[in-house]
Amino acid sequence: MSQTHCIILFSLWTLISGYSDDRVRDLMSRYPLIDGHNDLALQLRKLHNNRLNNVNVNNMSNIATDITRLHAGHVQAQMFAVYVMCGAQDKDAVRLTLEQIDVIRRMCTEYKDFELVTSAQELRNSKLRHKIACMLSIEGGHSIDSSLPALRMFYQLGVRSMSLTHTCNTPWAESSSKLYMFYQKQNDSLTSFGKAVVEEMNRLGMIIDLSHTSWGTAQAVLNHSKAPVIFSHSSSYTICNNDRNVPDWLLKELKRNRGLIMVNLHTNFISCKKEANISHVADHFDHIKRIIGADSIGIGSDFEGAVSFPKGLEDVSKYPALIKELLRRNWTEQELADILRRNFIRIFDEVEKMRDQLVYERPSEVQISMEEVQNPCRLVLRHPDSTGSLSEKSHSSSDQSRPLCLALVLLLSNLILL
Ligand SMILES: [Zn+2]
Repeated sequence: MSQTHCIILFSLWTLISGYSDDRVRDLMSRYPLIDGHNDLALQLRKLHNNRLNNVNVNNMSNIATDITRLHAGHVQAQMFAVYVMCGAQDKDAVRLTLEQIDVIRRMCTEYKDFELVTSAQELRNSKLRHKIACMLSIEGGHSIDSSLPALRMFYQLGVRSMSLTHTCNTPWAESSSKLYMFYQKQNDSLTSFGKAVVEEMNRLGMIIDLSHTSWGTAQAVLNHSKAPVIFSHSSSYTICNNDRNVPDWLLKELKRNRGLIMVNLHTNFISCKKEANISHVADHFDHIKRIIGADSIGIGSDFEGAVSFPKGLEDVSKYPALIKELLRRNWTEQELADILRRNFIRIFDEVEKMRDQLVYERPSEVQISMEEVQNPCRLVLRHPDSTGSLSEKSHSSSDQSRPLCLALVLLLSNLILL
């Protein structure tokens, strides 16, 4: 090839590439991203012990997320995961959850670029105000300690979504992971208390998240929920057969529920190998679109919750590269607007609409039985005795279990933060 040909080809490539960059920028300015899952609060816990005063969230070059790069990536809203390790289940999960809610709420109040939102309308408004909307999402049902009042109080604090499990079973729902043995034998996919959790989330207007649950639990929830549900950070099992991903038959059930799968970008769930690139990620989008359509897809990056991301998608500033690849694969602007934000807003609207339909239902008073919760840290309150005073005892027969309980918390917390 002559030098002239080379120059012409290079000029053409630059022109086309520049054109598509402009097109992506224009599209993402009009339809900025709502991302379904980011574990920034986990990093604040791990790296800074939640001491927000020591951190500048505008620039945090040692991790993948900060305000400067969220703007560069056209991220307009982020579901921030309220995550506490499974080692805290039946111990101090509720306290740790409150602390994670506190640090996210503080961050989203103290930084003027952020804004905490708790409704679909507030989410829309935050775009008009050029804010990055923060949404609170509990990751793992162990955070509520099998208590519907605790679930309701988290809602009052602004939590609008909860995944029913993380990597551990709860007494009432099953995880996709076999990492922990808690509640392994007694459990079925979704117990009657688990159904009560689903019903209460429907009544409150809290989005049910099925990422991390077993497929059996996901199916049971899809059969039971009156509102659409999401997988906030899961990808296609057909493309990468990891149990955290969603098989086609379950995608079809999700479609019937009018729900949403927000594709996880973590390398392990994308290529099932140690490395991946943007093309591998786009394969997940193409496949899921083929099975259930672009109106059921979103993006749930999992930044800060995983260590390895595809080449070209290493941090929150890189989303435009993915949109550029999907444009190259002939995704329409309408489809991209859907996956960037419109699908999520539709789900949020529908969940709120169901809440409004259930407005006359009273808060559920269903309680889990002590037999279902094998928790030595739980205090058993008894009915008043003949003198009218309330007596108490710990769930296990003696207080000797308490030092053991505390030691386990410390040990397991250290393990999970590796
Ligand atoms: Zn996760």
